[in-house]
Amino acid sequence: MKKHNFYAGPSILPNFTIEETIKALKNFANTGLSLAEISHRSKEFDAVMKETNSLFKELLNIPEDYEVIFVGGGASTQFCMIPFNLMNKKASYLNTGAWANKAQKEAKLFGEMVEVASSKDETYCYIPKNYEIPEDSDYFHITTNNTIYGTEIKEDYDVKVPLVADMSSDIFSRPIDVSKYAVIYGGAQKNLAPAGVTFVIVNKKVLGKVDREIPTMLDYRTHISKGSMFNTPPVIPVFAALQTLKWIKNMGGVEVLHRKNLEKAQILYDEIDRNKLFKGTVKNKEDRSIMNICFVMNDEYKEFEKEFLNFATEKNMLGIKGHRSVGGFRASTYNALPKESIEALIEVMQDFEKMKK
Ligand SMILES: *Cc1c(COP(=O)(O)O)cnc(C)c1O
Repeated sequence: MKKHNFYAGPSILPNFTIEETIKALKNFANTGLSLAEISHRSKEFDAVMKETNSLFKELLNIPEDYEVIFVGGGASTQFCMIPFNLMNKKASYLNTGAWANKAQKEAKLFGEMVEVASSKDETYCYIPKNYEIPEDSDYFHITTNNTIYGTEIKEDYDVKVPLVADMSSDIFSRPIDVSKYAVIYGGAQKNLAPAGVTFVIVNKKVLGKVDREIPTMLDYRTHISKGSMFNTPPVIPVFAALQTLKWIKNMGGVEVLHRKNLEKAQILYDEIDRNKLFKGTVKNKEDRSIMNICFVMNDEYKEFEKEFLNFATEKNMLGIKGHRSVGGFRASTYNALPKESIEALIEVMQDFEKMKK
């Protein structure tokens, strides 16, 4: 029976990505060697890196004065690379969840970290609005999609200071206006590739403004000047990312995926709102994520939480257990998840509802 993959990360990838990567692991670009055992300086891999870079820029419409780099270390290393490269005295952060919190912790090592607003008081079930960003901030940091709590900032904010965004779990899920951001970064393992590669989109104009010395590997300029080949890049995840980018292009681009994502999220949220057993955990509908859909059992049915999880798992709904800090359920609906998987989950929710009548 078909497995429905709702894992939050690492998570579902297009079949195309998996198949092409398997082929390259056996025989990469007709070299007769595996992608895993060939020099990253070979002309074959060099071509992969260059194409990944150009297709990434093309699909997100990235303006001329921006560069895209691919590095290791995960989004979590970016939590310190951002202040290392951009913060002189003061930076502002919006606290929308556990990842935002971790980013804030690193920033404090480099100067004054201003938390402009936080939704921690209500387990991050909403996106704070109406706050002041100090105009002398070196940058303002946001997490556009809060993977754990299922909230999402779906617009490109207009702010007066350089805007930095962790887009680990919603990159390529919707069109973005890159020109509104100074830096956008994320781990690849939610919507792009297997774990191991991190993308950073950076406006070159914001670099070179801090007084401190930056260790070579943590300096964005190192990776920009060497085309992400200063040291050995994570070759397999980069190759896989390229396959996903080709798949996105073939699907019709980010606009088409966005439409599909909106539709997928809508039908699942509609069921959560309709089904008497369940309720969503996000307070305001406009803050609901289209990538991670969080829900719990209604108070009068709380006792059935474990039973539903088992019931759904038996029916091949994999990875729907909510994060331990929220409980309940989370269905991650990344680009590669087909609508059929959501329809199958909805059917399981309806079957369970009938059992409890
Ligand atoms: C998963 C995730 C991270 C952490 O990414 P790593 O690559 O594991 O360091 C950071 N931010 C967000 C929004 C995430 O979803």
